[in-house]
Formats: sequence, structure tokens, C-alpha cells
Amino acid sequence: MQIAKDTAVWLHYTLRNDAGEVLDESEKDEPLNYIHGQGDIVPGLEKALTGKGAGAKLKVSVEPDEGYGERSDERVQTVDRNAFENETEIVPGMQFQAQGPEGLSIVTVVQVVGDHVTIDANHPLAGQRLHFEIEVVNVRKASDEELEHGHVHGEGGHHHH
Ligand code: ZN
Repeated sequence: MQIAKDTAVWLHYTLRNDAGEVLDESEKDEPLNYIHGQGDIVPGLEKALTGKGAGAKLKVSVEPDEGYGERSDERVQTVDRNAFENETEIVPGMQFQAQGPEGLSIVTVVQVVGDHVTIDANHPLAGQRLHFEIEVVNVRKASDEELEHGHVHGEGGHHHH
């Protein structure tokens, strides 16, 4: 079975930046799983995986426009500290999830001056070229229920039912 739209895919990955530093990787006994063709992984990687089967190993370099996008200064803004009502201490480097016009995003605190907090809503990997090393573990057709939920069920999947 080859990776195509609406297949459930399990893969191991290592993600490095241009400097060769590991930014992210899958757990040894727990490959990442996702449903292909619904934008769960960055477009450049989704394209490269299309047509690959279980056992395939590949190295893929993805430019920012096919990855997490370019950085935008418009996503950096200064807000009042009281916008963070649930946080007792706000320090540079803190990250949290925020609901924005383009969906859920990761926001990073860059600077705190008095009651003013500067936050950066660019994806932490925006503007970076991404180097993936991939091993495809398993591919099968996604069930109707999985397609409806938008995620993989069963072994290694979400257990939220
Ligand atoms: Zn589900």
C-alpha cells in the first residue's frame, strides 16, 4: 500500500535545522501517526511522502514556504500583562497556545518590561529550512470513522473514546 490521500501513516522522523541540530524526533517505540492529505504535516513533507510505502527511508529538505512559513513582524506584538490572567509569572521564553484567526498557534514570550509583554506568534520553526529523515513504518487505508475524526485510531492512535 502506498501513501495517498486518506491513508493512515505511521513513520519515524528526525527533524534537523541547517546547522544539523535535532529539533524534534519521534519516540523510539511510538512512531508518529497521521492521516495523509489533510494538512497534519507540513506541505513539503506531505508531497515527498506521497507514493511511498512501508519500509521506505527518505531524506527531505523543506523550504520555509513549504514548511512553517516565513516569519512576519506583524505577528510580534506587545500586550498588557493582565491579558494573561491565568499565569502568575511571565518570563521570556515561555510558550503557550493561543487561538488566533488562523487557528491554534504557539505564542512565545520575547520580552517583559513592566506591565508590557512582547509576544511572538510566529511558529517557532517559521523561516527555517527543515531537514527530515523519515522511515515509513506502516500505511493502511483510513476508516470512515478516522476520516470523520481526523486522526488515527487503534494501536498507536488516540484513545479518547
Ligand atoms: Zn477519534
